Order: sequence, then structure tokens, then C-alpha cells
Amino acid sequence: MFDQLYSPLQKIDHPLLTNLYVKRDDLIDPYISGNKWRKLKYLLERAAAEGKTHLVTFGGAFSNHLVATASAAARKGLQATAFVRGEAVQNEMLLLCRLYGMRLIFVDRESYRHKRQLFEQHFDSNSDAFFIDEGGASAEAVKGCAELLDELPKDIDHLFCAAGTGTTAAGLLQGILDKGLSTKLHVVPVLKGGDFLKQEMANYVPVEKQLLLHTGYHFGGYAKTTPELLTSLQRFARTYGLLTDPVYTAKLFYAIEDLARKGDIDKKEKIVALHSGGLLGLLGMKDKLQQILTS
Ligand SMILES: *Cc1c(COP(=O)(O)O)cnc(C)c1O
Repeated sequence: MFDQLYSPLQKIDHPLLTNLYVKRDDLIDPYISGNKWRKLKYLLERAAAEGKTHLVTFGGAFSNHLVATASAAARKGLQATAFVRGEAVQNEMLLLCRLYGMRLIFVDRESYRHKRQLFEQHFDSNSDAFFIDEGGASAEAVKGCAELLDELPKDIDHLFCAAGTGTTAAGLLQGILDKGLSTKLHVVPVLKGGDFLKQEMANYVPVEKQLLLHTGYHFGGYAKTTPELLTSLQRFARTYGLLTDPVYTAKLFYAIEDLARKGDIDKKEKIVALHSGGLLGLLGMKDKLQQILTS
């Protein structure tokens, strides 16, 4: 499953940024999308090495990670269970999880906070069960994401990524440091108060001055949008043929253009934006997108 990988580097014909490339991790797989593929790779290896046959993980009702885990489990012939935060709901993402055979257990927000406790309560005597943290956050995930630098040229001035837990960003920084590159890593947190990511990343990798956090592009917080963001998403789709999702990568590309406009990044320098996938997130915003298209 993880032997072959299709993620080309695509040049974007951008009027402002003359040297902008997109690393198309979104093309790796529609369901084990982008960074989720890289994050699961070594977790699945460890599960196999430990003889575990049942993946147990955690996420919100619109989590890309849940679909990725469900899909990966089915392809590997493993069982999968997810603890889903909040009241029982139905949506496109959870439908896919169920089609892949994942069992869903809805838990209230307070119980959800204690993930290890939930795991122990439900799977204590089950030696097949393998714990995977929310979003796949782990040292294995960092290792998987660090490998992305093997697939990039060495002369990149700025590498940009969107961040939720910061695990992917930690991996990219690890890759940059391992190779001794002078590439700057620009991280765009999609949550409010994204400064906490520096601490999160420091759990995995020495946080160097090569790391820049751009905390002003959350658009109100996780999975929050504005008409301005959605209009920008629409423009990217029709101008460059590049679909982005409102939760992660639309915020990323908005930030890149905005920083260039303000002169915070040199427009001629070599920029690579990581398209980390997650396009199923568009399905969670159908109504809002419809409004933008008809207004
Ligand atoms: C999950 C996800 C992220 C966030 O990755 P982290 O490692 O949690 O920071 C970014 N982009 C997309 C498309 C995602 O699905």
C-alpha cells in the first residue's frame, strides 16, 4: 500500500509569485489524503510489528484522519474503531468511515479529553488493539513527514504548510534540519491562538529560528470561514485548477498570497507550498460554498 507514492511538484503560473510550486500530496490518495498518509506510514508499520490487528483512534465528526485510518485499515485487512467527539451525527465523512467498516463510538466532549482512559475502558483486555492518537500525532508521524524533504529540491527558500496539531510541521522541520538546509519553514495554524504550536513541535524537534509561525490566518478558528476565505478558495480553483479545502489549505494559500502582497516574503524567491490534501473537507461546507457561488 505504501510502496508507491505520487506527489509531483507543480509550478503555479502566479502573477505575483514568480517561483511558486505546490507539492501535490493531495494526489497521493483521495481517502488516505496527503499528510495523513505520511503520518500513518510508520504507525502502521509498528502496529504490524507488534502483531496488532485493530486500529483504535480519535477525531471530530469531520476528521480527515478518521477517513484515512478507516481506509488504511480496510486495505490492510485490519479492524478499526474510532471515538468520535460530540453527539451522534451523520455526515459524508462518517459515511465513508462506515463504508470502510470502521466502528464509530460517539463520546461527549469531557470523556473525549481523556483518550487513554477511553482506550483502556473499551480495549483493556483486547491485546489486538493499537492506540493511535488524534490526527495520528506521534513520533512515527513526524518521521513519516520528515521524509517529504527527500522528494524536494535543496534550493527552496520557503516551505509553507498548514497546521492543526503541528505534527506535520515538526516533521518538515526535522527533515530540513536533518539535511542541513537553509530553507525556512512557514507554518500557518488553522486554529486560533496558534502560538501553542511552537511548544507542540518542540516535543519532537529542536525549534530553530528557521521556523516562522503566521498566526493571523485562522479566520475565526478551526473549521471557521469567512466569505473572503471562500472567495479566495474559489479563485484558486478556477484560476489555477487547484482545489483547496476551507479548513486547511485555503487558509494556507490565502496566507502565502497575503504575505507576498505585504512584502513579507520576496516574490522572486523559491516557494513550495505543501498541499496536504483534505479535500473531502469541501463536503462539510457545501452550503457556505453554494452561497459564494450564487452571490
Ligand atoms: C490533518 C491535516 C492537517 C494538519 O496536520 P497536523 O499534522 O495535525 O498539523 C493539514 N492539512 C490537512 C489537509 C489535513 O487533513
